Amino acid sequence: GHGIPRSHPRYWSLVLRERLVEAWRQGIVVPEGLIAHGRGECFDYLIGEETQWFAREAVRAAAAALLLAEHPVISVNGNAAALAAEGLVRLADLLGAPLEVNLFYRTEERARRIGELLRRHGARRVLGVDDATARIPGLPHPRGMVSPEGILRADVVLVALEDGDRTEALRRMGKTVIAIDLNPLSRTARMADITIVDNIVRAVPLLAETVQELKEKPREELENVLRGYDNDRVLAGALRFIKERLEKLAEEGIAMDPRRQ
Ligand code: ATP
Ligand code: MG
Repeated sequence: GHGIPRSHPRYWSLVLRERLVEAWRQGIVVPEGLIAHGRGECFDYLIGEETQWFAREAVRAAAAALLLAEHPVISVNGNAAALAAEGLVRLADLLGAPLEVNLFYRTEERARRIGELLRRHGARRVLGVDDATARIPGLPHPRGMVSPEGILRADVVLVALEDGDRTEALRRMGKTVIAIDLNPLSRTARMADITIVDNIVRAVPLLAETVQELKEKPREELENVLRGYDNDRVLAGALRFIKERLEKLAEEGIAMDPRRQ
């Protein structure tokens, strides 16, 4: 156990940090991943640490795109595995899609550990561990190594906490990119076709639930969901939401006084 008291006002935030530090000890997360999480936390604070309308809309479009895809692939890095392995495996199962270990700071050892973690959570098909033999054009080795059966031939790729250059390279290859990223200003968020501005710990279970719900719908309905989706509107919505929320908080006053209840 982590020993964090449930009564702590920032309980969940501390639990997630502890989970990442533990994953770092196990060689699943890199130190840079801990820094990336801190950046994400900041934006989570700004959106109120809840799934907002712009994320719900993006999740619906993402579910439709994944269900319509011929070769959907779910890309998994260290942070994603540490924070959302169970939901990612469930999502892959619902879609009949492979998970692919895809690392910015790739070592074979870390890829193997993440693959094992996914298998422990019941993953059926895990690519990118010993078959990352293909290369994303424009990215240096080992940063750009992918599986020829997975990301290389995928038409739709789900990435989380991804780097902007890699997102751009995937777009250049003609792939539809769905990103989970708390920062609506990141290059990844702006470069993706569909950006889910939400914490991965909330976004992945919601996405799996939405895939399950839309799975039975006719193709036309899914195509309509996608046609009606506008990522620019969603990103602008996230920025405006943050601005308006901060204005409201400033007007209400946020100073706390423990002596005056
Ligand atoms: P980019 O390269 O896309 O411009 P960046 O360089 O600002 O982004 P990176 O460290 O490359 O940041 O990517 C990590 C991204 O993951 C950040 O945008 C961060 O907000 C996001 N992030 C971190 N933790 C989470 C989380 N738990 N859920 C969702 N997103 C997260
Ligand atoms: Mg980056």
